[in-house]
Amino acid sequence: SLRAGIVGLPNVGKSTLFNAVVENGKAQAANFPFCTIEPNVGIVAVPDPRLNVLSEISKSKKAVPASIEFVDIAGLVKGASQGEGLGNKFLSHIREVDSIIQVVRCFEDNDIIHVNGKVDPKSDIDVINLELVFSDLDQVEKRLDKLKKSKASNPQTKMKEEAEKSALEKIVVALMDGRPARSISLTDLEKDGIRHLCLLTMKPIIYVANVAESDLAEPGSNSHVQDVTNLASELQSGLITVSAQVEAELTELPPEERIEYLASLGVNESGLGNLIRATYNLLGLHTYFTSGEKETKAWTIRSGMTAPQAAGVIHSDFERGFIRAETVAYDDFVAAGSFSAAREKGLLRSEGKDYIVKEGDVMLFRFNV
Ligand code: GDP
Repeated sequence: SLRAGIVGLPNVGKSTLFNAVVENGKAQAANFPFCTIEPNVGIVAVPDPRLNVLSEISKSKKAVPASIEFVDIAGLVKGASQGEGLGNKFLSHIREVDSIIQVVRCFEDNDIIHVNGKVDPKSDIDVINLELVFSDLDQVEKRLDKLKKSKASNPQTKMKEEAEKSALEKIVVALMDGRPARSISLTDLEKDGIRHLCLLTMKPIIYVANVAESDLAEPGSNSHVQDVTNLASELQSGLITVSAQVEAELTELPPEERIEYLASLGVNESGLGNLIRATYNLLGLHTYFTSGEKETKAWTIRSGMTAPQAAGVIHSDFERGFIRAETVAYDDFVAAGSFSAAREKGLLRSEGKDYIVKEGDVMLFRFNV
């Protein structure tokens, strides 16, 4: 499944948020086979009301939601990109995730030390951005040197290397200027060329403004939140406001007391659902469904994936042996009430290997083994 890494300076509330996300996931996942894989990795269900509707229609024995893995990546500090041991270790953890969630401290609390002496979201965001930029710059320069020395003669290889080089030459300019690689527009060929590098600053970022409980009802009145909001929009990144502490407290309360507690803070829902959905959406992810008596299941794909690629998410054999996909839009499936009724009404389409799967498609794959 897709991985989101939680990063941030020390003492901003990363672990508090991570634990709340995992505890909350456990509580909601009573019916699902979820687990915590490693101490700092948790699997969380993506809330989706369509799942139960489909499951009821198909009389499925179980309903399996899409999931995202959250990884708590502690230890990102100034100088990490220069560090040999630990520094490199967590930069390599970040390399393995699909998106980055940066927790930014927006709460004042004199008892909790801030590494830079004061709450300053702009500086926090700059520090982390620069570490990621430095790390990428180092990697890109090394790779460019190597490409310049390449003696590839195979025309196919040469063309690929040219595309990679032209991408990296654009990216290096941005990085030297302190800007992320994702701010550069690239052709599809160029994007393919640099994919193997897993550049840190290509990954989408969501900023989480961690506010005090007293700010939850009106986060915009906190000037730190305003700063994060402005930076997030400048950097074309997502923004979510939560109070990690409140989320942690909520997981300790029985469900019936949670609403009351939230109401006392002037809000009507926990921020975690928003965070999970935002992570999903900002990654450009879509959901398609398979639905039958055995199970109804939500599958995660990237936007633009073709039917065979989407089938490959279930199993690589499905992609290799792909023949056709019987496809019906979610609303049409619900209106028809079954695959066979949808077929009779002409709502079930037979799609080939070039079909781009759409959000909410309900699918049946035909394949050779
Ligand atoms: P990390 O180093 O970023 O993982 O930070 P932690 O999650 O360990 O939190 C550091 C300290 O800040 C802990 O004592 C938390 O209880 C506290 N903390 C986290 N979130 C909040 C918050 O929203 N408000 C306040 N007042 N304290 C918080």
